[in-house]
Amino acid sequence: MGYFCYPAHCPGPDLKIMTEKKLRTLAEPFRIKMVEPLKITTEEYREEVLKKAGFNPFLLRSEDVFIDLLTDSGTGAMSDRQWGGMMIGDESYAGARSWEHLESVVKELTGMAHVLPTHQGRAAERILYGILGGKDKVFISNTHFDTTRANIEFTGANALDIIPPTSRDPEVDLPFKGNIDTEELERLIVKHGSSQIGAVVMTVTNNSFGGQPVSMQNMKEVRTICDRNKVFLVIDGCRIAENSYFIKHRENGFADKTYEEIAKEMLRLGDAFIMSAKKDGLVNMGGLLTLKDDELSRKCTNLLIISEGFTTYGGLSGRDMEAIAIGLKEVFDPDYLHYRIRSTAYLGEHLRAKGVPVLWPIGGHAVYIDAKRLYPNIPVNEYPGQVLVCDLYVKGGIRCVEVGSVMFGKYDERHQLIPAQNELVRLAIPRRVYTQSHIDYVLDVFDDILELRKQTRGCRITYEPPFLRHFTSQFERL
Ligand SMILES: *Cc1c(COP(=O)(O)O)cnc(C)c1O
Repeated sequence: MGYFCYPAHCPGPDLKIMTEKKLRTLAEPFRIKMVEPLKITTEEYREEVLKKAGFNPFLLRSEDVFIDLLTDSGTGAMSDRQWGGMMIGDESYAGARSWEHLESVVKELTGMAHVLPTHQGRAAERILYGILGGKDKVFISNTHFDTTRANIEFTGANALDIIPPTSRDPEVDLPFKGNIDTEELERLIVKHGSSQIGAVVMTVTNNSFGGQPVSMQNMKEVRTICDRNKVFLVIDGCRIAENSYFIKHRENGFADKTYEEIAKEMLRLGDAFIMSAKKDGLVNMGGLLTLKDDELSRKCTNLLIISEGFTTYGGLSGRDMEAIAIGLKEVFDPDYLHYRIRSTAYLGEHLRAKGVPVLWPIGGHAVYIDAKRLYPNIPVNEYPGQVLVCDLYVKGGIRCVEVGSVMFGKYDERHQLIPAQNELVRLAIPRRVYTQSHIDYVLDVFDDILELRKQTRGCRITYEPPFLRHFTSQFERL
């Protein structure tokens, strides 16, 4: 067993488990030069600290976590080349060498004339949507990521998500489940009128929708629709390299292109590109906003200088910019991307083979478990997702997050829970951090979870804040 390596270094178009003898273990394409020791704890210890944390793993100390799958954002490991780059970072206030390095890499990647560095993705969002947004404006997306939605709604605008009906089935095996519904897009633009549309925002890969990819064809159709209606197109593309992997292996006509060529082709379809470098930038902090239009760029630059920093550093130090410039090259390395996508799929495919219900097919950066189907005996108002999150921590020291009624649930006038659409648990995979044996360990812990599933009980909220309750709520087991 192992991460299955397909012949000729090229996986098939689907992600079925391969069992042919010829396949080899896909070993991590890096070796370890520096280690961060992990604390091994006992189940009794974890039960106690989780209780103290009100059964909310967000309130745990990271020291008490063995395998942290809370997020893939800013949790990756930098390479020796990136760390080497940190040492030659130019910390000049203006016109630094490291800025020139970053700017040239990003211009080459996006083909856009203007590059604005920011401290993270949401700062780029606040600047751009602060200008494009406003009361009565409408934004349309395949799915707005939470910070995107928050920054748009903060301006008084409306944010609409349109996934085609066929993609909403958690089981249906489609190659590009992250696509936007183009028919609905046209309909909505006509309904609201082009002048009211702040922008179309394509999230690539579609983070809040299972990390599912967007096809080149879908992006081209969106470009055509935007051109026809004179609507602005933003690519929210912090996982653009992961998306390129799926295009190369699943979409006709891309097999002979490099991942970087595919990313360049897609980015040239946008009017603006926003990137949280904490994802495919392979760094722990950073963000980017790039634009084609001179006038819009001037407006954004003014806001950048007020709140982030001068135009040649944004919210970043020279060494940060150096590390992003190097990371944006490394992320397109075929060995890295193959390992990245296959290792995420490895966890998902093996969970599925054990009988754990997962969102299918497996996306790029995370595996989503359907807790409602895993625990049919736990009603939604007893938060099956939170129960799984807690059990994974107690049984194995694994930390992850509920994406269900704890995160998105609301109450009606009689304080009855209006549940979320799904009760999911997300296992996000940090980049270049865990080895296959860590992931095999996670799979072992699921054996315990499956064994106990019939007798597992639900939980109840004992404290909750008015907003974003998943971060600080407290629970008790029933
Ligand atoms: C992470 C993320 C953001 C926000 O970026 P931060 O660096 O966390 O501020 C925006 N859009 C998408 C799709 C993301 O995944």
